[in-house]
Amino acid sequence: MVWVSATAGERPWPNARRSGDVETPGASALAGRDRSDAASFYGSGGYPGSMTDPAELDVTIVDGYVDEPAHFGVPPYVSTYPRYVAGALVDAGVPRERITYHTIDALRDERNRWRTVEDADLLIYVGGMTVPGKYVGGTPAEPDEVRELAWTADGTTVLGGPVRFGVGEENAGGIETERDDLDFDFVAKGDVEAAVYDLVHGGMEGFGDRMRDNDEIARWARAGAFVIEQHPNHPEYLIAEMETSRGCPYRCSFCTEPLYGADPSFRTPEAVVGEVAALADHGARHFRLGRQADILAYGGDGEAPNPEALRALYGGIREAVPDLGTLHLDNMNPVTIVRWPEKAREGIRVIAEHNTPGDTAAFGLESADPVVQEQNNLNVTAEECFRAVEIVNEEGGWRPGDEADPPRLPKLLPGINLVHGLQGERAETFEHNRRFLERLYDAGLLVRRINVRQVMAFAGTDMSETGAALADAHKREFKRYKREIREEIDNPMLQRLAPPGTVLEDVHLEYHRDGRTFGRQLGTYPLLVGIPGERPLGHTIDVAVTDHGYRSVSGVPYPLDVNAASMAELTAVPGVGRDRAGDLLVDRPHESVPDVAGLRRFATARTVGGDD
Ligand code: SF4
Repeated sequence: MVWVSATAGERPWPNARRSGDVETPGASALAGRDRSDAASFYGSGGYPGSMTDPAELDVTIVDGYVDEPAHFGVPPYVSTYPRYVAGALVDAGVPRERITYHTIDALRDERNRWRTVEDADLLIYVGGMTVPGKYVGGTPAEPDEVRELAWTADGTTVLGGPVRFGVGEENAGGIETERDDLDFDFVAKGDVEAAVYDLVHGGMEGFGDRMRDNDEIARWARAGAFVIEQHPNHPEYLIAEMETSRGCPYRCSFCTEPLYGADPSFRTPEAVVGEVAALADHGARHFRLGRQADILAYGGDGEAPNPEALRALYGGIREAVPDLGTLHLDNMNPVTIVRWPEKAREGIRVIAEHNTPGDTAAFGLESADPVVQEQNNLNVTAEECFRAVEIVNEEGGWRPGDEADPPRLPKLLPGINLVHGLQGERAETFEHNRRFLERLYDAGLLVRRINVRQVMAFAGTDMSETGAALADAHKREFKRYKREIREEIDNPMLQRLAPPGTVLEDVHLEYHRDGRTFGRQLGTYPLLVGIPGERPLGHTIDVAVTDHGYRSVSGVPYPLDVNAASMAELTAVPGVGRDRAGDLLVDRPHESVPDVAGLRRFATARTVGGDD
């Protein structure tokens, strides 16, 4: 609600028809009304003659992807936006079979899909990046592509999602952003799902800029679950981003999350579990509890942990989908851990008991420099963050399985987020951050991944005045520092995290490059894995780690059949080398795994009749 009142009276977008000369009255007529106002304005009964009956609307939703501080929706992730919008449409009376959903990549790949953009009575675009990133699974829509959607559509067009906070020239860090309607008829300045509901329920006359409430999304989330079946990654390589709350009680200078409100409004375990079950009914098996500022605060007073609520949430999800493939999370506030260490420990144990391996609790340290912390209202010190890393290592850093099994990734480890270009940044800032990371490594701790990026500054945040100026000024230093972190911290940390022989299950093979195949597991911040040879894409295999890059690993299929493995695969196994690999090839078939150093951890010997 904070965001709505903070922008009341401000009209950064014209809300005018594309034709340019006809003002659309609806949006302004209802601006500021809440849902009950809208309902009474239009009445709860049928639709007057001049209004459009929702049952006759053809609607197309285009997903340009989102990346927000606490919400991710680039494939293989599907964000809540298209799901909630589809549910709101159904709730407003649009038949499911009249709702078409495309990702921006699907539109790029198949030009004939644009027909449903052109012909729809209502086109809804959801997207927006408020943190910069590089993506393997999909390419977010660029502003010009979004404009093209608006120009192509003959029907009414609505733009919503974090794109309302602003767009840059391109999707990158350290650039200026500004608010832009991208030539759409309407911009949903509140929640796009609420706007769409009011617009359609009201006979296509307009909508108010309001936020939806948890009762509405309890309905819409379930009713819109069907739309995932139209995602190109459905069913196997798709992970549903789940919302447990929005808003944040802290106010870091660069972050858009507090614009959703200072009091996180938690969804009940029943609501989240009900949505998970509905998604599972439509084929989803992979889930991430990522749409919240702090999973540990779930179901509590807004700040302190409530382990019982976490147990109800995680236990309920496991019960609803016993055969789930992935249950991961994003975002845990280290401050919650150090302020309430006992409750936090219990909460972390609950999570590690129910999640799947390789899970990451991303910590927003943002900066280890006290000057930057002070000037940007950051809520955690380097010392506190260090303590929180220790606690997550102690409670969640165990590897599942027996000692006799090959090692798996630890159940839950912290990730570290660092942001550059913040107010007060100076040469020493880079040094503070580097020293903090070195200290973690030297203490023998594990960190699942380190995320270093430059800030994007949005209107409504305290960084909006500074903008990209400091990020720009420090670009060269930033690049050097980033490279040093990759070489000096990431690589040794990765060796500790996934020593040779660690098995990564269900790696999805995504692309070929330089005679190798690359893939990732589904989940939060998955490791990129390169394996020798060009294997068929779109399949999943288990992989055993053989070597380490900065942010990626090399591996071989697990277990490696010594009677079928290629020369490149055998050579990749640590301790084998080219000469021995050649001997192994020449001496085939092997009745059992030959006694070659290190090979037993990786290999098996299959005969024509099956396993040995
Ligand atoms: S703690 Fe700071 S960075 Fe994290 S969600 Fe809240 S305001 Fe944003």
